[in-house]
Amino acid sequence: MPQHHIIIGDGVTAAEFATTRKCNPDDSITIIGRDVANLGRGIAYASAPADAPWRYAYLLNSPARSVDIDFADWINKNWDYMVEVMSGRTPNWLEAAKHYSDAGEFASLNAPREIFGDFYRTRVLKKIEALRNSSVKVTLVAAHATRIERDGTGITIHTEDLQQFRADSVDIATGGPYNKRFDGDDGTHAYPELFGNEYPIAEKLQTGGNLVCIGSGAASLDLLRFYQSIKPESQIDFAVISTTGKILRALRPPINFKPTPFTLNGTFSTADDFLKEVFEQQRMALEAGATLYETRVGLRSIFLDKGVTGYVPNLTEARKIARPLFKHFEGGTRDSIEDFHALEQQGRTQVIAGNVQGITHDADHAHVHYLDENMQAQTFKACVVVNCAGPGLENRFDDLTTNMINQGLINICDQSGGLLVGEHGQTTMQGVRYLGPAVTSIGDSVEPVPLYDAFRLRRAVQRFNS
Ligand SMILES: Cc1cc2nc3c(=O)[nH]c(=O)nc-3n(C[C@H](O)[C@H](O)[C@H](O)COP(=O)(O)OP(=O)(O)OC[C@H]3O[C@@H](n4cnc5c(N)ncnc54)[C@H](O)[C@@H]3O)c2cc1C
Repeated sequence: MPQHHIIIGDGVTAAEFATTRKCNPDDSITIIGRDVANLGRGIAYASAPADAPWRYAYLLNSPARSVDIDFADWINKNWDYMVEVMSGRTPNWLEAAKHYSDAGEFASLNAPREIFGDFYRTRVLKKIEALRNSSVKVTLVAAHATRIERDGTGITIHTEDLQQFRADSVDIATGGPYNKRFDGDDGTHAYPELFGNEYPIAEKLQTGGNLVCIGSGAASLDLLRFYQSIKPESQIDFAVISTTGKILRALRPPINFKPTPFTLNGTFSTADDFLKEVFEQQRMALEAGATLYETRVGLRSIFLDKGVTGYVPNLTEARKIARPLFKHFEGGTRDSIEDFHALEQQGRTQVIAGNVQGITHDADHAHVHYLDENMQAQTFKACVVVNCAGPGLENRFDDLTTNMINQGLINICDQSGGLLVGEHGQTTMQGVRYLGPAVTSIGDSVEPVPLYDAFRLRRAVQRFNS
C-alpha cells in the first residue's frame, strides 16, 4: 500500500531526510516548514535580498573541505564565477582568499554560506525532481508544526494555522535551540538575534554610534562581517562582551594541509582519561608545528571507523565527552577573526570579559549591564546591541521539539546537556524520527561533539536511510 511520509523542517537535515529516503512509486512525501520554498537552506544557508550590502557576507565556519569535499571541488571548478560574484564586495573576501586561491587551495577557503546554500539547494531540487519522475508525490507546505500525536492507524501533525496532516511515518528536523535571552534584548536599541533583523539594525547604525555584541561564538563573527558590509572601516566601533573574554581562534589551514594523526591504543574507563590523552597528543602536535585546524580534522577522523564508545565503552562516561571536546577544539572563520584582530590594533574592535545581566534603554542608547571578572557590576553604553550569545544551557527549542521533550519522545542527556534519540533517530513514538544539531547521542552511539555541522548531520541521515 502507498505510504505517506511527512518531514518537518526546511533546512539541510529536512532536505536530506526527504531526498535520501527509499520510496516506492505512488508513495507521498509532504515537507512542512515556513520557508519550505527554500528547502535545504534553513537559517544557516539562507539567501539575502540581491541588493542587501550584507549579501554573501556570512561565511562558513570551517574550510570548504570540512563542509563538503564536493563543494570544495565545485569552488575549484567555478572559481571564475566566485570572482565575478565576490568582486567589489566589502569586506574583501577575494583579497582574504588570495593566499589560498593563488596556490589553488580552494578547499581551504571559508566560502560564503549563501553560496554553499545555492550549491546544496541545486542538488536538493534535482533529487526532488528525480523523486517526482519516479511517481513519488512530493508536496511542500509552508507552515509551522506545533504538535504530533499517534493513534492506532497513524500519526497526526498539527500546525500553527490549524491544519492537520496524517502520515504513516514522520521525520522531524526543526533545527537547534534558540539564543538564550537577556532582559531588554528586544528593547528600543537591542535585537534578540542578528538573522532576520539586518534591515532595522542597519538603519539604526546609519546615524552612527557603536555596536555591542553579546557573546563571542560564531554569530559574533557574522555580526562583525555584517557591520563591515554596511560601514566603512573608519566608522567601525565594535565591542564583544562575553564570559570568556576572548574571541574564537581561527581555523587556518597551512598550504600543505595535513590532518594530525592521533594514536589512541586500547580503551579508557573514564571521559577524563580519554580527554587527558587527546589533549596531550594535541599539545604535542601543536608544539611540533601543527595548526589547530589540522589537529581538529585529525581528531574527528578517529571517530569515523570507531565511535566514541570504541574508545570509552561506558555509555555514561562516553556522553561526558561532547561538551569539553567541542570547547577544546572550537575555532572559527579565519577571515573574520583576522579582521577582528586587525581592527583591534586600530582600536576599532574590543572584547570585554563579562557576564551580561540585562540591558536597559534610554531615548538614545542601550546600557548593557554585566558582571566583570571580579564580579563587579559594570555598564557599557551602546548605540545598538545584538544578542549573539547562542543557546547556552537554556535549551529553548521550537514548539514541536519542546512538546516532544515534554511528552518524553526525546530526552535531554544528563551528561552532555544535548538531546538523546534512539537508533536511526527513532523517538519513543513509533514511526517518528528526530535529528538536529543539538543531538549528542543516537541509540547506543555517542556523538564526539554536538552536530552543529552540515556534513555530519547529512551523513547521519544518510546512515538512517541506508
Ligand atoms: C547562523 C548559523 C551558521 C552556521 N554555520 C555553519 C557552518 O558554517 N558550517 C556548518 O557545518 N554548520 C553551520 N551551522 C550549523 C547548522 O546548524 C547546521 O549546519 C545545519 O544547517 C542545521 O540544519 P538543520 O536542518 O538541522 O537546522 P536548520 O537549518 O536550523 O533548519 C531547521 C528549519 O526548520 C524550521 N522549523 C523550526 N521549527 C519548525 C516547526 N515546528 N515546524 C516547521 N518548521 C520548523 C526552521 O524555521 C528552520 O528553517 C550554522 C548554524 C547557524 C544557525
